Amino acid sequence: GPTSGIDYRAELNDEQFAAVTAPPGPTLVIAGAGSGKTRTLTYRVAYLLDHEVEARNILLLTFTNKAAREMTERVRTLVPHDVSALWSGTFHSIGNRILRRHAEVLGFTKSFSILDRDDQKSLLGGVIASLDIDTKVRRFPKADVLASIFSLVENTSESLDDIIRVRYPYFDDWSSEIHKTHERYAKRKQETNSMDFDDLLVLTLKLFQQDEELLALYRKRFRHILVDEYQDTNAVQSELIDLLAGDGASVMAVGDDAQSIYSWRGADMGNILSFPKRHEGCRVFKIETNYRSVPEILDLSNAAIRANRARFDKDLKSSRVEAGIKPALVPLEDPATQAAFVAQRMLELRDEGIPLEEMAVLYRAHFQSLEIQMELTTRGIPFAITSGLRFFEQAHIKDVSAFLRFVTNRRDETSFKRLVLLLPGIGAAGADKLWRDWQKTGYAESEEIPVWSEVLGALKPPKKAAKHWEQLGYTLDELTPNGEFARPSEMVFSVLEGLYAEFLQASYDNYENRRSDIEQLMAYGGNFDDVLEFLSQLSLLGSADGEPTGDTSERDDEKVTLSSIHQAKGLEWKVVFLIWLTDGQFPNGRILESDDEDQLEEERRLFYVAITRAKDELYLTYPFINPKSYTGDVIQRPSRFLEDFPRSLVEEWKVGSNWASDEPF
Ligand code: ATP
Ligand code: MG
Repeated sequence: GPTSGIDYRAELNDEQFAAVTAPPGPTLVIAGAGSGKTRTLTYRVAYLLDHEVEARNILLLTFTNKAAREMTERVRTLVPHDVSALWSGTFHSIGNRILRRHAEVLGFTKSFSILDRDDQKSLLGGVIASLDIDTKVRRFPKADVLASIFSLVENTSESLDDIIRVRYPYFDDWSSEIHKTHERYAKRKQETNSMDFDDLLVLTLKLFQQDEELLALYRKRFRHILVDEYQDTNAVQSELIDLLAGDGASVMAVGDDAQSIYSWRGADMGNILSFPKRHEGCRVFKIETNYRSVPEILDLSNAAIRANRARFDKDLKSSRVEAGIKPALVPLEDPATQAAFVAQRMLELRDEGIPLEEMAVLYRAHFQSLEIQMELTTRGIPFAITSGLRFFEQAHIKDVSAFLRFVTNRRDETSFKRLVLLLPGIGAAGADKLWRDWQKTGYAESEEIPVWSEVLGALKPPKKAAKHWEQLGYTLDELTPNGEFARPSEMVFSVLEGLYAEFLQASYDNYENRRSDIEQLMAYGGNFDDVLEFLSQLSLLGSADGEPTGDTSERDDEKVTLSSIHQAKGLEWKVVFLIWLTDGQFPNGRILESDDEDQLEEERRLFYVAITRAKDELYLTYPFINPKSYTGDVIQRPSRFLEDFPRSLVEEWKVGSNWASDEPF
């Protein structure tokens, strides 16, 4: 094939170059933040394409779909090759893609639904009700808690019993009922042809464990597997990679043990540490230069992470020679003053020529962003949020997708009930009955798509609902003209016009806003021909994978970013504000109380991730008074992480209490 003309020597340092050009075989790049790990992976893909490897033989796994898109985009600009056959995405999206092709092997159909947390809760609610558990004497875990427990079962190597005993001792007496719930839940998912997020991983693994021929097929295809942020893989993910790789494929994993921040979700930094042991002949590369941050910020990050015991020594040296400014430590009177300071400083920096999209506010937990959100809104500073309620998690978006999900997967009880419950005059009991009646029609199991108005017309909804029931039949018919699926955007349109606009108007004050959200959804649907692809994408976007939303516009520019630290992994900005640095907020109060040294070290790694996002300027702020404190501790203690480094590494700023006003700086 044509070669790209990239000068690999010039664009990479010696260590990066060695990794990028390494011969086939297992390879691990373990290096600190900002050392160019992601860049190395990107150039590796380009290098492979430049050396006769076909795009279809490459699998690229990243932590967010956005990161995957950005890397493929970058490769596209680097090489002239067609990369459309390259598979890249999160573990969940790749699992989905594989399962969509072979779900039958596991007893599902290709049109299975993906359950999000709410769907999961509603299915679990049904299971709990069916088990007739007497919860009057002792409290049985709620659906939400059960979902978390089951997720840990899937994502760690701990047994259900151990998880209850160690992490949920309070429910120890319910152990056998929890087991039963777990079994029935699995059965219900199968019956309703639905998978939850964990299934997308677990069932992909099961598929390959069960079907050797299929495994052989995929092994033949994915000759090169590349994984970014490897330190945050869990047991299932690392097993899946190892299985797919077999003895033949080249796996290149890159990561940083000091940035492992997802153990609470089952991630195990042991995976990266044991990678060389698990892969014979593994080459290990370390990169010791940081290309991201000015020396002043780098000194602070090196010092901050040194306080952790569990880590590999790998102090980074800065490649940036120009002197920057020291990170600012800014005590502020209260949360409102903190917000005002951040907003004011942003405006000044913009006046100095730094564009808004080069600035971010990072925090430990989403709720800590509320004051900032209000302040930025008041001052008219545009922002995008990458944490908190996502566009696709909003009730009205989920309502509309329930219609599409049900017509494509007619065994999807959750979606059926969701849409039936929208009709006035139908309650939970009515929905149950209608679901049973629907199943009796035989169309739930059938491949054939019914003429909805006829089939539904024969069912008996409560009298009060008759008119809307009829309307539902006609609406569904519009989704499947001539027994085939309409285009996704047409489907959304039909739902809105046929039925849902009326419901919205009757139900919500902010009807107009919700309606524009749905119009956005319609526009987004225009990117797809196939409704299943559209629905998969919606589910994956609303997932815990961390897609930036809360912002529906395509443009990333001219906006500051508000993000939880977890969601900021791998990203960089010229200016970073890290807020709410008080004991109890960051590190988190629950962890301080538990006195668990491992968890405190994970908090410290999170602190390290946060400060290493900054290229040029870093602001560490905290309010010393919190009038709304729930603990009653109105006076806030500065975060203990601020004591991990010598004060000479920061510049202390003194800012008056008049920040809430519009005083010039
Ligand atoms: P993180 O641990 O935060 O994910 P990383 O190790 O993946 O960081 P990158 O994001 O790949 O680091 O690189 C950090 C910054 O340094 C990027 O802007 C990247 O383009 C730049 N960079 C990395 N290596 C080089 C290099 N050899 N020459 C010039 N710039 C580089
Ligand atoms: Mg990276």
